[in-house]
Order: sequence, then C-alpha cells, then structure tokens
Amino acid sequence: MPNQSLTSPKADILVIDDTPENLNLLSAMLTEQGYKVRSVTKGSTGLRGANAVPPDLILLDVNMPQMNGYEVCQQLKINDRTREIPVIFISALGDVLDKVKAFAVGGVDYITKPFQLEEVLARIENHLMIRQLQKQLQAQNERLQQEIRDRTKAEEKFAKVFRSSPNPIAIATVAEACFIDVNPSFLKMSGYSPEEVIEHTFAELDLGKDTVAITQIIQCLPDIGSIYNQEFEFSTKSGEVKTTLISIELIDLAGVPCALLIANDITERKRLENEFISLVSHELRTPLTSTMGALDLLGAGQLGTLTAQGQKILSIATNNTERLIRLVNDILDLERMKSGKIFMRKAKCNVAELLITATEAMQAMADKLQVKLIVNPLAIEIWADPDRLLQTLTNLLSNAIKFSEAGDTVWISATLSESQGVESEENHHFCTKDSSLPNYLLITIQDQGRGIPEDKLQIIFERFQQVDASDSRNKGGTGLGLAICRNIVQQHHGKIWVESVLGEGSTFYVILPLISSKST
Ligand code: ADP
Repeated sequence: MPNQSLTSPKADILVIDDTPENLNLLSAMLTEQGYKVRSVTKGSTGLRGANAVPPDLILLDVNMPQMNGYEVCQQLKINDRTREIPVIFISALGDVLDKVKAFAVGGVDYITKPFQLEEVLARIENHLMIRQLQKQLQAQNERLQQEIRDRTKAEEKFAKVFRSSPNPIAIATVAEACFIDVNPSFLKMSGYSPEEVIEHTFAELDLGKDTVAITQIIQCLPDIGSIYNQEFEFSTKSGEVKTTLISIELIDLAGVPCALLIANDITERKRLENEFISLVSHELRTPLTSTMGALDLLGAGQLGTLTAQGQKILSIATNNTERLIRLVNDILDLERMKSGKIFMRKAKCNVAELLITATEAMQAMADKLQVKLIVNPLAIEIWADPDRLLQTLTNLLSNAIKFSEAGDTVWISATLSESQGVESEENHHFCTKDSSLPNYLLITIQDQGRGIPEDKLQIIFERFQQVDASDSRNKGGTGLGLAICRNIVQQHHGKIWVESVLGEGSTFYVILPLISSKST
C-alpha cells in the first residue's frame, strides 16, 4: 500500500510527449489522482522546466522530433539539479523501445501503450516512494556524516587539551576506579610512568591517604554527580605529599561509564599561603597585645577619667582589638594544629560535665540574645582533651546562638550510638556508610536559626569560609571556628558535619569513637 504522503497532491509530475492526445490522456488521468501535472511537447522545453522547478518524477516519451527521449534523459542526468529525478519512459504503440538503452541513459522504468491506468499509477507511486526513501536516506546520511565530523572535531579538541593541559588529567573506569589514560602533566606530578599507571587501580598505586575517598567518589559518581574542586592529598611515587583540588566528571567512553579527573596542584600555593598567614599573625600579635594593654589602662581610669563619649569610643576600640586578637590567635592555633605542633592532652573526661560547662560558658551570650539553651547531658567518660573539646562545643554553641533569632531554642545533647546507619562527615557526601567505626559518642548541637545553604554545608569547615561575607562584621566571627573544631575532632579520630534546612535551622554532629580513643 503506497504511503499516503507519497501520493499527496503535492507530488509534481512533468510529462514530456510530442503527441497532444497522449499528453491530454496522461494529464487528465494523473490530475484526477491528485497529482500536480505539468505537460510539455518538446524535449528542450521539458529540460528548461525541469531545471527551473525540478519535479518529483518525469514521464518521458521515447520518440520525439529534434531531441528524442534518450537524449533528454541524458541531459537530465548530467545536470546536478535534475540528476536525481526518476524518469519513466513512455513508448507509443508500434515504437521500438530499446529497454537496455532506456536504463543505460538513467531511466528507472518504462510504460508501453496502450496505457493501463492501474499499471501506470502503480509504477509512478512505486518510483515516487523509492525517490522519497532515497531522499530520507540521503538526509540521514548527511546528518550522520555531520555528526561524525562534529565528533571527530570534538575528539581532536579533547585529545589536544588532554595532552597539552598543564593540569594533571586522568580517565578511570567507574566500576573498578582503574586508570585508562593519563596525560603528561599527571605523569609529571605523580612521578609514575604510563605503564605503572594505565590498567592499574587507584588502590594498587596507593596515591596516599585520600586514595579510598577518591575511589569511593569515582564508584559512586553515577549517583552523586560531578565533584568540583575538592581538596585531596595525593602521594607521588617518591612519597612526596601534594595538595590538589580535584574535579571529577562522569563521562561515557564507548558505552563504559568513566570518571574524568582534572587536578590542580596547589601545594606551593598552600605552603606560601600558610607561611604568609603565620608570619603576618606573629607580626600582628605583639603590637595588638600592647594596644590592648594600653586600652585596658585607659579603661581602668589610671590615666584620668574619660568622658561618656570617650568611654564609648574606647569600648569600640577594645571590641575591635579583641576581635583582631581572637582572629590572630585562631589563625596561629589552626596553623599549629595543622602542622602538628599542638598535642592533644588527653585524659578521662566526663561528657556530662563538658556539656554543662560549655552551656554555662555560653549562657550569658544566650541570655543577651534571648535564646533558650537546653542541655541533655550524658554521664559517660571518654578519653579526650577536655580543653579542646570544650573549645569545640562552645564554638558550636556560640554559632548556634548567634545565628538564631530572639525566642529560638538551642539544644545540645549527647547519646551513644552504633556506627552503622549514621553517615560520617567524610562519606556524608558520598554514598557509602562507615561501618569501620566502633561504638561512639554522638554530640548534636541543634538550632532553629537561619540555616545554611546546601552548597555551603561542606565549605564552612574550611578556614575563612562564611555563608555571608558580612558574617564576620555583623556577628563578630573570624570564619576560623569550624576549621578549628574540625581539626580538634579529627585529632580525636572523630568526625564533624552539619545538616541544615534554610530558614528552619541547623544541626551540627560530632562523633567521637569510644573504644579506640584510649589507645590513641
Ligand atoms: P565564624 O567565626 O564566622 O562563626 P565559623 O567557622 O565558626 O566562623 O563558621 C563559619 C560560617 O558558617 C559562619 O560565618 C556562618 O556563616 C556559618 N555557620 C556556622 N554555624 C552556623 C549555624 N549554626 N547557623 C547558620 N550558619 C552557621
């Protein structure tokens, strides 16, 4: 059954025949069938018409004076505009039709008179359909060719970037985290040869302490999506530790899900940054301490009584100096912790006492901001540095209070928990559960404050990271508190993370292992 669209009135047929009776007969017959028909009596006129507006099909008489049908067909086939039009030859009764010649010059079929309506229509429809399918095939072919060209171009571009990028780049399978390809910058940074890397897994190479974390991310990539600029420590072949920012993207290589890892070596930048920060902080501490001493003297009235206005200005100066001293101390504290210069003085401490002491220390602040503090202590002993743990709890409480509204409540609670079923800070953002931890203490600090946006949940634990740039000015913070908390918790082999709903509040979780802590 012919396709409806192929026999639509739009199909345009050119009839070239020098016998007017034939022309009229064919024309009437085809028009009645819904075709659009153009008829001409001369080969040359037919050629011009076909060139001007190429028809969908041509019915061409073999025997015509001046230019016969074969010649007309030859002319049609050498012209780009008319080459593809199917030509069906018509031969009159008594004409000698050279069928071989008809096909040789490019005809697709022939009809001999007397015409049989059904046969003529069947042949026409047949060739229109073939032509239509040909056109579709050509269009599809062109699309595919274009796609291949685009892909080749993209692949060439990618290969160029891959090879010449100053950033270390690697491609690994998702299933096994096994290297498929790495670029020269990766080899240069890692110190390995291509043979030592390709077809080996991350675990086999042992790329340092973050090997497991990276492997987990790669294997969970289809679930968690891309990772951007996450900091990882990475060991080279010679054992040198590099700090890198790594972005990981899921790609498809011939149907195999793979991870594209692009690294940025920030080791030197970090070192300079740390050196600079600690140098500046040291240099600032001495003059700041002496400024504070001078302000204290003024405040104590030992150098004369100040006017009310003078007192007000002195109080602003004292507040700001205190903030600066806090900032400098926090920076130095953090730097010393990170470089391992601060040792945790661990002892048996009572969790209930710690929670109550922390709450009492923050009560004045809570009262001032009209925030209610509720403590749910737990009478259990753990092996920890009490001062540092207190520092962590007061910091978390102070944040919870300062980001709450008057009338809100802040809860601090401690419970014992099994490790299973609770996500640790590290794998909180990945998809596996940490089942390696023994029983542990879980401390939660919950508030009803402004909450933290999803994209900031992780980075607020980095130093100087605040949700709002105005937080340090408006809330008196330094942006270092959570970085210090994380460091302290990590030095206790614990984890810290936050969950939050914007506008509804945040809950900070601290887990500290119980059993293994004594042995550390
Ligand atoms: P800061 O000294 O600024 O409080 P932190 O490192 O303690 O520094 O906290 C970093 C940032 O994290 C804060 O500036 C704030 O933007 C956000 N933050 C921390 N705790 C909370 C909380 N409980 N509610 C809302 N935002 C918080």
